[in-house]
Amino acid sequence: MTTPIVAVVGRPNVGKSTLFNRLTKSKMALVDDLPGVTRDRLYGRVESYEKPFTLIDTGGFDPPADQAFADEVHAQIKLAMEEADLILFLTDGKYGLSPLDSHVADMLRRSHKPVIACVNKIDSPEKEDAASEFYALGITPLHFISSAHGYGIWDMMQDVMAALPSVEEEDEDNSGEIRVTLLGRPNVGKSSLLNALVGSPRVVVSDVAGTTRDTIDTPFTFDGQDYVLIDTAGIRKLGRVEKGIEKAGVFRSLRSLERAHVAVVVLDAFEGITDQDLRLAGQAVESYRGLVVVLNKWDLLKGEEYKQRRLKERLESAFRFAPYAPVVKISALTKKGVNRVLPQVKKVFEEYNKRIATGPLNKAMEMILAKHQPPMVKGKRLKFYYASQVANRPPTIVLFVNNPKAVHFSYRRYLNNELRGVMGLTKAPLRLLFRERS
Ligand code: GDP
Ligand code: GDP
Repeated sequence: MTTPIVAVVGRPNVGKSTLFNRLTKSKMALVDDLPGVTRDRLYGRVESYEKPFTLIDTGGFDPPADQAFADEVHAQIKLAMEEADLILFLTDGKYGLSPLDSHVADMLRRSHKPVIACVNKIDSPEKEDAASEFYALGITPLHFISSAHGYGIWDMMQDVMAALPSVEEEDEDNSGEIRVTLLGRPNVGKSSLLNALVGSPRVVVSDVAGTTRDTIDTPFTFDGQDYVLIDTAGIRKLGRVEKGIEKAGVFRSLRSLERAHVAVVVLDAFEGITDQDLRLAGQAVESYRGLVVVLNKWDLLKGEEYKQRRLKERLESAFRFAPYAPVVKISALTKKGVNRVLPQVKKVFEEYNKRIATGPLNKAMEMILAKHQPPMVKGKRLKFYYASQVANRPPTIVLFVNNPKAVHFSYRRYLNNELRGVMGLTKAPLRLLFRERS
C-alpha cells in the first residue's frame, strides 16, 4: 500500500509552512522519540482525515543565495510535479495576485497533475470578495483559506480527500516479490552494498528495466525469493551529488520509500550515527515501511572493542523509535555479512503481510482496553467502538473512537504495542488509524 504524496507549492511567504504546520499538527507522535531530527521538516504525515497522506512543504527547500526567487520556485515546482500525486497551490490574498502566481499556474497546468488552488490569508469570509481576482488564474477548485486561523481548511480538505485514493479501495498487491530500497547518506556504502548484492553468485539478476524518469529498478532472485531493488539509479547518483541538492534527495527517498516494502538504511559503522541517518530511518518509520538497519564498514571496527560497544549503545538509544528493526553488521568491501541482509529483509516482509480477522481483533481490543482504560478527556471517557484490519503491507488497523484527536501519544503507543503483540509483529511496524464515530 502506498501513501499518496501531496505537495504545497507557491512563491515565498504565501504561507506554505503555516499550512504545513496546521495540517501536520496532530501528526503521528512516533516523532516524539526523534529529538533533534524533526527540525526543518520537509515532509509530514497527515493522518487526522479520512485518508492518510504525506505532505511536502516545498518551502523547506532553501533558495540558493545567488539565485532569484523565480528560479527557486521553478525548481520546487518541478520536484513537486514529478513526485506528488496532488498539488496544493498556495497564493497570498493579502498581497494580491502576483505575476509569479500566474507563472506557477501555467507550469502546474502543463504538469497534468491534479491541482487544488488556495488563496491564503483570507482570515474572515468578508475578505473573499476582495480576492476574487484570483479566479483569473483559471485553476479550479479555488479555495479561500486562512492557514493561520483555520478558515476554509475543512472545505479544502474535502476536495483533497475526494482527489486521493482511499486506503480501502486500493488494489491489494499480493505478488510474491519483495520491493527493497537502500537508503543512506552519501559515502556510507550503498553502491558498494548494491554491487556486492547484485554481484553475489547467489543472486540472479533479471532484465534491468529503465524508464524515462531516471529511475531504474533491479529485479533479482536470492535463495528462490524474488526481490526488486528500487531506484538503483538514484543510489549510484546520490553518492556523487553536490551539496545543496541533498534535500532533493529527501524527496526522492520519500518516493522510493512509498514504492518499497522494506527500507534498508545503511549506516557507516566507522563514522557513527548522524542526525541525517536518523532522519532517513525516521522517514521509513513514518512511512510504515519495514526497516532493516545495516551497519556497514564493520571491517574498520575489527578488534576495536571499545568502539564497537560505544556504537552499540548509541544505536540502542538513537533507534528507540524503531526497536523492532533488525540490525545487520556487514562489510560491503570484504562482503562479510552481506548474505545476511536479504534474509532479514525477508523476515520483516513476512510480518509485513500479516493479517488478523475482525473477531479475534475485537476480542483482543476488549482485553487491551480493560487492562489499561482509555484516559478521561475533559471529563469524558474516550470510547472505542470497533476495530478492523483494512490493509496489509503494512498491517493497517482502523479503530473507531468517539474522539480521535483526544487519543494521546502514550495511549496510541500502548495500543500499538499491545496489538503488535497480539499479531505477533516483532520485526515489522503496525499502522493504527483512528476514525471518528460518535
Ligand atoms: P512560506 O514562505 O510560503 O512558507 O510562508 P510562511 O508560512 O512562512 O508565512 C509567511 C508569513 O505569512 C508569516 O508571517 C505568516 O505568519 C503569515 N501567514 C501565513 N498564513 C497566514 C494567514 O492565514 N493569515 C495571515 N494573516 N497571515 C498568514
Ligand atoms: P555510497 O555513496 O553510499 O553509494 O557509498 P559507496 O558505496 O560509494 O562507498 C563510499 C566509500 O566507502 C568508497 O570509497 C567505498 O570503497 C567505501 N566502502 C564501502 N563499503 C565499505 C566497507 O564495508 N568497508 C570499508 N572499509 N570501506 C567501504
